Amino acid sequence: MNLILLGPPGSGKGTQARLIRDQHGLVLIATGDILREEVQKETPLGLEVKGIMDAGLYPSDDIILEIFEKHLRQAKNQGVILDGVPRTLNQAEKVDKMFEKLGTELTMVIQLAVDEKELINRLSNRQVCKSCGASYTIDLPPRVVGMCDACSGSDFVRRADDAPEAVKTRLDVYNERTKPLIDYYARHNRLRSVDGMKSVDQVNEQIEILLRDFQ
Ligand SMILES: [Zn+2]
Repeated sequence: MNLILLGPPGSGKGTQARLIRDQHGLVLIATGDILREEVQKETPLGLEVKGIMDAGLYPSDDIILEIFEKHLRQAKNQGVILDGVPRTLNQAEKVDKMFEKLGTELTMVIQLAVDEKELINRLSNRQVCKSCGASYTIDLPPRVVGMCDACSGSDFVRRADDAPEAVKTRLDVYNERTKPLIDYYARHNRLRSVDGMKSVDQVNEQIEILLRDFQ
């Protein structure tokens, strides 16, 4: 099973992607997390993309696709869930081709539909776990105060691209470049949609219902 989660920044893609990964034994390819790790480790790639990412922009399609292909090759037999790729029509077409080349295909694209005002509210008070990247907000705090649900870490940071100016840029970029993917996948009959305004558990339930036939 190969899945894509599609939705604007703050729609809960990262959180749901981790849950689905654990529930279905898929490999999570989260290009944003991979890139942020490169930045943190100050690798050549990390140094190249740091400024772009801190401003709320995204590296070129070529960089994203190269990272994606490398991870997909390693994970193709297990099935993957994608968070943060594809983000442009060009990327979507190339991702389809890469699946085909590896003798597999995309099973489903799940869109998380969320209201824009709610997104800004979520992103402006979001904190992420420094060790595993799980994210929390005032409305969705960890179960134990100060301790990450996923890895028990206790170090939380604000992502540079969650600063107000960067959030606005990311939403503009999403509306202009990523929203057209919704039509693209609808035309290819791959698109399903869930209400991303609900709680994490309720959104996850809706997704599980969609995936029931693909166990
Ligand atoms: Zn954690």
